[in-house]
Amino acid sequence: MPDLHIKTLTGSDTSLKSEAIDKLKESIRGNVLTPESEQYDEARTIWNAMIDKRPAMIVRCASAADVMRTVRFAGEHKLLVAVRGGGHNVAGNAVCDGGLMIDLSPMKSVRVDRKGMTARVEPGVTLGEFDRETQAFGLATPVGINSTTGIAGLTLGGGFGWLSRKYGLSIDNLISADVVTAAGELVTASETDHPDLFWGIRGGGGNFGAVTSFEFRLHKVGPEVLAGLIIHPLDAAGDVLRFYRDFIKTTPQEFVCWFVLRLAPPLPFLPAEWHGKAIVVLAVCYAGNVKEGERVAKPLRSFGKPVADIIGPMPFTAWQTVLDPLLAPGMRNYWKSHDFKEASDGLIDVLIAHARRIPDPQTEIAFALLGEGVTKVAKEATAYTHRDAGFVMNVHGRWDNPSNDAKCMGWVRELFQATAPFATGGAYVNFMTQEEQERVPSAYGSNYDRLAALKKKYDPDNFFRLNQNIQPAK
Ligand SMILES: Cc1cc2nc3c(=O)[nH]c(=O)nc-3n(C[C@H](O)[C@H](O)[C@H](O)COP(=O)(O)OP(=O)(O)OC[C@H]3O[C@@H](n4cnc5c(N)ncnc54)[C@H](O)[C@@H]3O)c2cc1C
Repeated sequence: MPDLHIKTLTGSDTSLKSEAIDKLKESIRGNVLTPESEQYDEARTIWNAMIDKRPAMIVRCASAADVMRTVRFAGEHKLLVAVRGGGHNVAGNAVCDGGLMIDLSPMKSVRVDRKGMTARVEPGVTLGEFDRETQAFGLATPVGINSTTGIAGLTLGGGFGWLSRKYGLSIDNLISADVVTAAGELVTASETDHPDLFWGIRGGGGNFGAVTSFEFRLHKVGPEVLAGLIIHPLDAAGDVLRFYRDFIKTTPQEFVCWFVLRLAPPLPFLPAEWHGKAIVVLAVCYAGNVKEGERVAKPLRSFGKPVADIIGPMPFTAWQTVLDPLLAPGMRNYWKSHDFKEASDGLIDVLIAHARRIPDPQTEIAFALLGEGVTKVAKEATAYTHRDAGFVMNVHGRWDNPSNDAKCMGWVRELFQATAPFATGGAYVNFMTQEEQERVPSAYGSNYDRLAALKKKYDPDNFFRLNQNIQPAK
């Protein structure tokens, strides 16, 4: 291999001698890719097609030892480093231009301890892979709602989904994690071992090290749950959402319902005359007894005149993939997000007004409901702090033709501005784009100073900087 031009931490170029690269290659079980390698394009491609970055070198790690050796190698040569888990993050920090990408996606093992109700998970595992392993024993833990998302990035930012109202965030179910620090050392972080680091990685993203293993607590879920969609015309959305918002407060924590405003996709369960028309979708999951779920969901299903109601018993693993076709990789994505305490009348009106002008059939306004499982943990107990947000809005600007960039991004920004007066001012790091670095302090609120001090302790040179970055305290 010839010498390689590569970016350093400060952005300057340096030349890596071929002997140094060969030595790294010999020391790891995984492999090293450069722009000439066959798998290079596949390895640098991530979920969001707006991100098209070209690392000088990609190390596809097979093990924790590979990660330690690669971090030490990068540290020795002061290289710019990106860390990739599932490659789903919309900001695209999993990949970098000109630097070294540490690709953890080949690390795919999941081991379930069914008696102890825990699971050990490597960082290349996707949510679908994780669910398949745990559901084999009727177990699960809260993760996101799209099966191709990576467990690593999701967990490090907080992580929520259908089980969060009952069981909290993904981080609330994290028992321990193995972390390769900026010094290239592997430490275990838990309540008893490096508890400060354990606090920081529960919401602090990839700022403190590369996680090579997560240990989760599991709960009995399914394997069959009551789940599905209720779809109403957008014209009815004002009444539907007001009813929903009040109704949800009367339901038990097993019951979760998120809502989405969008144009109706051409799916077989929707009457053809509705395809392409503006709708509001209620996405329901009852993670308890199916019969009880039917009783709880009844008033919501009986409200108004839905265009479709496809709620029924289904395997939890199937429900976890139902929204995949609407969130498939390879599209251009630009997101904006706010936290809200309540879905107030004023907010609902603004959402509906913007949904009438939605710029692309793939674009949508999605609202996640969090709830009691999340709020019961103290705000300062983990780095993730905005536990009082009842709803997290994610405006999924999504389209395929680059000529629509300005139109779609403009609409997303307008909606973000228009909803700001109703928002708490907090933010969820996992939904933030590459241009939102200035929002990082508000994403961590009163926990920010403690995080900056922790960053100084574990990563004083800001080696792990390609993330929603916490600057080391001065
Ligand atoms: C379609 C879609 C649906 C989503 N749904 C949900 C949802 O329901 N709930 C929710 O909470 N979030 C959701 N998200 C957001 C998701 O949590 C983030 O995008 C998350 O960062 C994805 O993790 P990843 O490993 O796939 O991403 P990557 O892009 O690989 O990683 C994101 C960042 O995390 C860091 N990182 C990743 N792995 C490691 C590691 N092992 N060690 C250290 N740092 C690491 C790096 O800084 C990296 O840049 C969704 C995202 C998408 C695209």
